[in-house]
Amino acid sequence: MSDPTTPAAWANQFASLWMVCGQGFPVDVKEIALEVTKTRFSDPVGLVRAHGIQGIDGILSKRKRGDWCISYDETITVPGRINFTLGHEFGHYLLHRKIREEGFQCGQAEMLDYESPESRKFESEANKFASYLLMPATDFRSQIEGQVVTLDLLGHCANRYGTSFTATALKWVELTDQPALLAMARDGFICWSYPSRRARLLRTYLPPGTPVPQSSLRRLNSAADINRRNQGSRVPPGVWHPELEAEEFVIISDHFDLAIFLVRFPYAGMVEQAEEKDWDAFTFFENRAQG
Ligand SMILES: [Zn+2]
Repeated sequence: MSDPTTPAAWANQFASLWMVCGQGFPVDVKEIALEVTKTRFSDPVGLVRAHGIQGIDGILSKRKRGDWCISYDETITVPGRINFTLGHEFGHYLLHRKIREEGFQCGQAEMLDYESPESRKFESEANKFASYLLMPATDFRSQIEGQVVTLDLLGHCANRYGTSFTATALKWVELTDQPALLAMARDGFICWSYPSRRARLLRTYLPPGTPVPQSSLRRLNSAADINRRNQGSRVPPGVWHPELEAEEFVIISDHFDLAIFLVRFPYAGMVEQAEEKDWDAFTFFENRAQG
């Protein structure tokens, strides 16, 4: 088997292998990393363990004996975060260990926050690998096909794949053929937003720093509404899009002070779909970060 060259191709190869072997979800990254690399590479992943260092989500390091160790912060309680971290470090191993022999130390630093230009590409690629490995597109599509998105549906997927709510919601936006937008906000302002393919054609992107619509903030602050948050709220044109009515869901994020808005545009007419290569959340953010 020749080695793939892109994060998605690597991830698809391992995800297929996992499914062909009749293994269920979630994908066990530890097992794959240990079992597959020892027969395939002269410098395999020899150890996956907890490292007891708080604040550093995951580390990829080369050991004296020449193999590699993946370690992770076992105290993280957000569901799915550890699994994603293991996938992320395994991605660094497959894609970057020959370029950066000293290895990687990865903090949470928001999986979409690429502040340091030199590591932007590496981090983006490792995230992309983890996302494709843990949530294979064919299986994910079979879970969401023909269904209206609700927080329950996303919760079901997050459980199935052992991924965080944020990573799962991003995957949904990446794969859906509906016009939709995922926006993360802190203190009343958008930190990032990610439109689906069809939403992008409707120009629904909101740049960082855009104020969150007042009506959405009120909904966010209303406990009663949050209890009913599985039902989307209809919001008039002029809130999330100048001309389009929308349906808005509020998700309180895995990270306490962050709110995620999932916005659908169910009444948008059919828009011509342009085929774009490499449409995934992490490519999108990497491109945005590069301006
Ligand atoms: Zn990393």
